[in-house]
Amino acid sequence: MKTTERRPKQRPRAGEVRLEGQPVSSGVAIGYAAVAHEPAPPPVDMARRDCDPAHERTRLHDAISRSVAQLGRLHDRLALLPEDGQVEIGSLLEVYRRMLGPSRLRRGIEARLEQGMLAEAAVMQETETLAALMLAPPGRPAPQGEDAVAARRRAGEFREIGRRLVRNLSGTPYRSFSTLPDGAILVAEQLRPADAALIDPSRIAAVVTEEGGSTGHTAILLRALGIPAVLAAHGLLAQVGRRTRLVVDGATGRVIVRPSSRMAAAARVEVASYARERQMLGRLRRLPARLSSGEVLTLQANLEIPAELPMVAQSGAAGIGLLRSEFLFMNTDTLPDEELQEAIYLPLIEAMAGDPVTIRVVDWGSEKNSDALSRVGIGNGGDANPALAVRGIRLLLQHRTLLETQFAAILRAAHAGPVRVLLPMVSLLEELQAAREIYARVGRRLRRRGVKIPDPLPPLGIMIETPAAALMTDVLAQEAEFLAIGTNDLTMYTLAADRAATDVAALYDPLHPAVLRLVRMTADAGLRQRRPVSVCGELASDPQAVPLLVGLGVRSFSMHASAVPRVKRAIRAAAMDDCRRMACRALEATDGQEVRAMLAQYAYTLQHPDDG
Ligand code: PEP
Ligand code: MG
Repeated sequence: MKTTERRPKQRPRAGEVRLEGQPVSSGVAIGYAAVAHEPAPPPVDMARRDCDPAHERTRLHDAISRSVAQLGRLHDRLALLPEDGQVEIGSLLEVYRRMLGPSRLRRGIEARLEQGMLAEAAVMQETETLAALMLAPPGRPAPQGEDAVAARRRAGEFREIGRRLVRNLSGTPYRSFSTLPDGAILVAEQLRPADAALIDPSRIAAVVTEEGGSTGHTAILLRALGIPAVLAAHGLLAQVGRRTRLVVDGATGRVIVRPSSRMAAAARVEVASYARERQMLGRLRRLPARLSSGEVLTLQANLEIPAELPMVAQSGAAGIGLLRSEFLFMNTDTLPDEELQEAIYLPLIEAMAGDPVTIRVVDWGSEKNSDALSRVGIGNGGDANPALAVRGIRLLLQHRTLLETQFAAILRAAHAGPVRVLLPMVSLLEELQAAREIYARVGRRLRRRGVKIPDPLPPLGIMIETPAAALMTDVLAQEAEFLAIGTNDLTMYTLAADRAATDVAALYDPLHPAVLRLVRMTADAGLRQRRPVSVCGELASDPQAVPLLVGLGVRSFSMHASAVPRVKRAIRAAAMDDCRRMACRALEATDGQEVRAMLAQYAYTLQHPDDG
């Protein structure tokens, strides 16, 4: 297998050209392109129906054995990948292996062979049929939002395993990256996750592809490997030839082909400063989140899927402040039972080695939906205003076994380390009381059965995501042992602007004083009732906003793991007096713009102390 550097279809134009793609993994790189084309398998006669099924079955089984062996070799390479890459590619290899086993895919292919089809054609048709089913499930609305992302990923998995089988059926080799020159920028039409796993991040400066997207496995893996990457840079291959010089900015998605000498010099400065920044952020990992005036805060990570766990460890987060358990219900047709859930929570809790894990029970409804739940008749029911209908705790109280199962699984896993249980979308005291009763009952039942669970039960807290909850925090805090402010939803409900709708995006502003006043009320009530208050919405990832939230009385933050170092840096530069002064001004501001300008000014003063 070797990398071929074919002549591009169109002659590359001379002079600097700028392309835009999807920013996938941040970092700036400058280097020469190494175009890695993949030899195409020979064309397949899709119409043939006169093949000998026994012969084609043997060919298929050989191709499956070869594919399994290749995946096994890839698996052996896992140890060479950084930890997050290991998790991402490890679980993907597992998916592929299951597909090659006694799966629906295999049954479908074999049924087509019985019709006299060529094995290649049967594989291609069946994988495409299953991919299409994922993208447009018959009799159901097309997946939206996170479900659409998951559906695309799943469809990609079917197509990928199909391509692997066809290559092995036709004996078409894979490309290899081992011959690429050191420091090269890998340019390809597309890059599959298995390809990405073969890349040595110490040798490849960046990756740019013509196809692909920011949410697939390849993108996740490239981020895990820390390789600057831009995918879906249309027009790339027509512009790039052998040893074309490129500048790649993985944060903005910009690709400069044949940069001018001025542009190349600027890129080199950026490459050096990015390297310094990474080094500095790495050092921050071990330092406390302490204000320059001495007060220590807590920074934790939000977790969407277990695969992000290594990133949490790398970030220096002091535990998981929000485990969104929705992933348990995605990409599956069946509801996860108590044992399965326990088996998923347990390693997460163990991995945090004594740092707390806050598990939020499932928050479905509104814009989120799940196959497993829809199948048993649980969903947003097509309401005109799903965000204002049955979601979060409302849904769980209507389907109590769902809540009981999740409580029981969390309690079973809780012996492994400190755990907190979080209820989503609470707006009334009676919702919290009803959930608490169920929680206590599940605890009693497990104890009666002799299951070892913590005594007292782990703290039960609530999300503050509605104006009603924020305004009533003092009442709710009598029953809730901790409060987590979800600024994403709190902003939506306070400003009556849908968080997912682009036409009201300008109205959706978490820094609007109306939202900030509710944050202040919540923090004050928490303090009075001695209940810990955290912010776990996106606002907690904003290094400029966090000092303001500190001034409003919040001492604990949970954010995407990648944001932890930058937020910590901002905190270590800020002083409590300044935070409080900013909070007073923000509460009196007339709009979010004014608040944002003030925060930017403060950040500037911290960075340039001699200017003022
Ligand atoms: C929030 O609403 O701020 C929050 C953290 O919950 P989610 O984004 O999962 O709705
Ligand atoms: Mg929310």
